[in-house]
Amino acid sequence: MKTFDEYVTDAERIHGHICAGQILGLRMAIYGLKLLGLQDPEGADRKRLVTFVEIDRCATDAVTVVTGCRMGKRALKFRDFGKVAATFCDLRVNRAVRVIALESSKERAREMYPQIENRNLQQMRAYREMPDTELFSFEWVRVAIGPEDLPGFKGPRIQCAECGESISFHREVVRDGRTLCRACAGERYYEPLGDESG
Ligand SMILES: [Zn+2]
Ligand SMILES: [Zn+2]
Repeated sequence: MKTFDEYVTDAERIHGHICAGQILGLRMAIYGLKLLGLQDPEGADRKRLVTFVEIDRCATDAVTVVTGCRMGKRALKFRDFGKVAATFCDLRVNRAVRVIALESSKERAREMYPQIENRNLQQMRAYREMPDTELFSFEWVRVAIGPEDLPGFKGPRIQCAECGESISFHREVVRDGRTLCRACAGERYYEPLGDESG
């Protein structure tokens, strides 16, 4: 693994700035890997790790920096629960740990550095130094990851009977005997305008 400062440099480059959320995310991922006993996430342990993140904020980018888990590799899964928490899954031994950021760490940062008025700077400094147990709680969990959710899964591509678009990884659904994409089955998050100009 890299040093903490090296991770900070990487996080700043990828995220565009360094902030308390990044420091927290780095610490969270390092703790998760420590609990799993994984030491080489970018080398020997590269293909055994899948990470679930529960918020789409600063900390999430930092988690990817440490774990190497990326959305485009299917090794990063997003569950929009609005929580600063992540679950690190070791596929090889089928073990997973969920790490949760403690709300009390903000108060602890105030106690540690009352002289630093800027909250972000105060937390950045404190989050670097606080012991893991003051920053996080954790729980061992079981995560059922189907083969279609694993990196490297190859499956047939299906065409939606309604819109004609292609669907991979068994994300199609069958409604009244028709094979549909999830959008046509009712999960559409957009409304087509049916208008060339937009
Ligand atoms: Zn940020
Ligand atoms: Zn469709």
